[in-house]
Amino acid sequence: MAKMKKGEVVDKNCDKEVEDGFPEAVVNTLDKMQNEEGQNMDLYIPRKCSATNRLITSKDHASVQINIGHVDENGIYTGQFSTFALCGFVRAQGDADSALDRLWQKKKVEVRQQIRGQEMDPQLPFKKHFSSPGQDRWPREASSVAYTCLCIEETAPFSSKYGRLGRGGLDMEVNPTKLDYYGDMSKLQSKSTLISDCKGDDGRRALILESTIFHPQGGGQPSDTGVITVADSDFKFIVQDVRSKNGIVFHYGVVESSGGDFEILLEKGKEVVLCVDESRRVLNSRLHSAGHLLDACIQTVGLGHLEPGKGFHFPDGPHVEYKGSVPQNKVQSKAKELELEANALISKGGKVFVAVLPYEEASELCGGCLPDYIPKGSTPRIVKLGDKPGCPCGGTHVSDITEIVSMKVSQIRTKKGMTKVFYTVGA
Ligand SMILES: [Zn+2]
Repeated sequence: MAKMKKGEVVDKNCDKEVEDGFPEAVVNTLDKMQNEEGQNMDLYIPRKCSATNRLITSKDHASVQINIGHVDENGIYTGQFSTFALCGFVRAQGDADSALDRLWQKKKVEVRQQIRGQEMDPQLPFKKHFSSPGQDRWPREASSVAYTCLCIEETAPFSSKYGRLGRGGLDMEVNPTKLDYYGDMSKLQSKSTLISDCKGDDGRRALILESTIFHPQGGGQPSDTGVITVADSDFKFIVQDVRSKNGIVFHYGVVESSGGDFEILLEKGKEVVLCVDESRRVLNSRLHSAGHLLDACIQTVGLGHLEPGKGFHFPDGPHVEYKGSVPQNKVQSKAKELELEANALISKGGKVFVAVLPYEEASELCGGCLPDYIPKGSTPRIVKLGDKPGCPCGGTHVSDITEIVSMKVSQIRTKKGMTKVFYTVGA
């Protein structure tokens, strides 16, 4: 490495915006950068502030560059990251936190746009795998996409890490939230202990609890809503949205105003009372179970060639997506057949079994194998509808198939080798 003069600009591409961190060669020599007197020197690489787009000058010693690491479903760093540079001006304004929030939200959307679909129900591809155990028909691509989406949803490690940079956010280690609905999906009221009353990674107020009965959005199912209260007080937190990041559940919402001082943060360790909105939960559970049921009927009506992709169990346009086509002249008759078959299963009924099981036991219940994304030796949660094979799923479901009440297969849309089966559940 050539000896450097103090303040000398070495980057020949100085007018080019550096987006993805240090060029490799520079990183490797950074710690050896010395001038003619043998003094260690800082290397100045012109780059722009990600938030303001202004050039970060060599004298801007308050500037920072942060790599946001992407983590996989186990919270392990994947080796990929996004880089953001912030100039000292932004930090002096106390805007670094919100700027990073904003930048990350945007980046997240960008990455998401590259991957089709945001809400995936990862058990669906697995069912297909199960239905043909002799061959490896597991749609690997679909499953890895599902995976990527889940990871991205859970990325934002800086909600717990970069909180240390400035105001808001979390500045402590938080254990994963215990998911009480995993074992008991019918429980709509419970007690828990407050871990943190904070600002989430997008600036919204969030409560983090030791355990929760609120289902966070994911796996093709929307989040629960409801209220969180504190016994013997007027505190009433309206839960509008629930998200899980790195296993930590964020209950986002607002304090219901009744004239008091609501800026006061709740203390850690406070006992809180959780109440999940029943009608929304019941509908979400019926829609999720109906999606699983529909998938169980695909084979029966002679559409076994369809490879399940995503499940979207939201009240707004619920559907299950498949790879493969249905001839246009068959879409109406197949929709009718599917509907008849699903309703026959609903009339027959059958208990919905849910349990978190050791890997081997779970595998057995799912027909002898589990999809690749379930780590060996882990304890997956298995959902099993009546006598149909079980599958890994993190959602909430009805306790008996009859509770779906009735199903309507409203439309089969087939286009460019993809088929979407739209459905609704009866009132
Ligand atoms: Zn599911």
